[in-house]
Amino acid sequence: MQLSRFVVSYKDVRPGEHVLYSVLEDRYVGVDDLTLRALPRWERGDEPASDDEREVQEALLDDGFLVRGRADDDAHVRAYLDKAADGMPGTLLVTLMPTLQCNLACNYCFQKDHPAFTKMSRPTEDATLEWVLRLVDERRLKAIKVHYFGGEPTTRKDFCLRSAEVLSAAMKARGGKFEWTMTTNGVLLDVAFARKMESFGPGTFKITLDGDKETHDKERIYRDGRGSFDVIFENVVALAKAGCKVRIGGNFYPDQAASFERLLDRIEQSGVARLLDGVRFKPVVDTQHQESGSCTNCSYKGETQTLVQLNRSVEKRKMAAPVLQGELLESMLGPCELHWKNSYTIDPEGNVYKCPAVAGMPDLAVAQVASSATEKIAPLVELRPWEQCGDCPYLPVCVGGCLGGQFLKTRRRDQVACKKEMFEKSFRETVVHRYLAEFTEEKEWTEAA
Ligand code: SF4
Ligand code: SF4
Repeated sequence: MQLSRFVVSYKDVRPGEHVLYSVLEDRYVGVDDLTLRALPRWERGDEPASDDEREVQEALLDDGFLVRGRADDDAHVRAYLDKAADGMPGTLLVTLMPTLQCNLACNYCFQKDHPAFTKMSRPTEDATLEWVLRLVDERRLKAIKVHYFGGEPTTRKDFCLRSAEVLSAAMKARGGKFEWTMTTNGVLLDVAFARKMESFGPGTFKITLDGDKETHDKERIYRDGRGSFDVIFENVVALAKAGCKVRIGGNFYPDQAASFERLLDRIEQSGVARLLDGVRFKPVVDTQHQESGSCTNCSYKGETQTLVQLNRSVEKRKMAAPVLQGELLESMLGPCELHWKNSYTIDPEGNVYKCPAVAGMPDLAVAQVASSATEKIAPLVELRPWEQCGDCPYLPVCVGGCLGGQFLKTRRRDQVACKKEMFEKSFRETVVHRYLAEFTEEKEWTEAA
């Protein structure tokens, strides 16, 4: 009998009270000193010292915190990954890239110097929509979620509107659903376009603000070097006030927390804080600077502290806090779309990929919309680099991290992109917070009753 290798323990969350958290089950339990001390004894094969102890042991075994041996963990993680591969059951997630061109040239963007600045042609557009609908029919899927991505998708508003109209009508005829999101820099957004898109199905605009004006305008610049903050912020406010769904994202470097706080102040002062669909910041993935990445040599100390600090601030300001908390967790709870069965990205040439980060690199494609050839195994997962991660408890949710980003940095497919330190801190923060919130409330309620 042993602790599952996917369980992490957080000691003394309150004096004498410890939390065991199963990454695999996303489940936590509080244990006392006696139980914590019994664990090594059970691992040695000793019998429980009392009936009470036996009862605790059985409960922990039933809930997956304890396993009888490594084989149990191996079977559980295989079943977990199989289930995770279903992604969103019954739903095709497809990222459409009508162009790789962008009207900005952000410093950290992997597409900034991309050689393939093509736009999707009409024949490729038609073949893409046919390919998507063929897949829906073959796999008997009930919903399509399109993610419009680029380059900058709003430089191809014509494509976005046409494809949304076709897919929306096709899904309606099949008794299914069509939804969309659009990741956009926000420069060309306007309320009329947003309303037209919404007429085809519910959707959300994800707009990036990299902190307040002074940090944003250093990173997110036009090709002539001008900053883009003012025009984007104005569009965010206009769309939010018009009732369109807008979610703010932002990419920070560890020393930029103050600017992101000022951005949160500015959002509150503009009167749209409660109108937004969510606010979420994450560390910059800088693919313009080569780094060697491996499980053991990465350090994300600074960015983890900033992440925790900013997430607390968003929550304190009640800016769509449930969405943020949910999403923070969601982003940590499961392998990314690279590992999902019904998730694809299609580039302007009609090449189909499992990861948006490598779109535009035909060597890494798994299919072509104009070809009937069988889908290939994704080159990014072919070498199974996560098998070098050993007993890492975060394996089920990480599976080697962002392999697409790692490939862009190193051009290698045999390396993981390890953010173990970030997982450790973010999970501790979130799980302990959830545990204390749940059990403090329960205790207070019981006392009050
Ligand atoms: S590998 Fe990275 S970029 Fe690709 S789908 Fe996964 S998280 Fe996204
Ligand atoms: S599973 Fe993820 S966090 Fe764990 S060692 Fe591998 S890359 Fe690092």
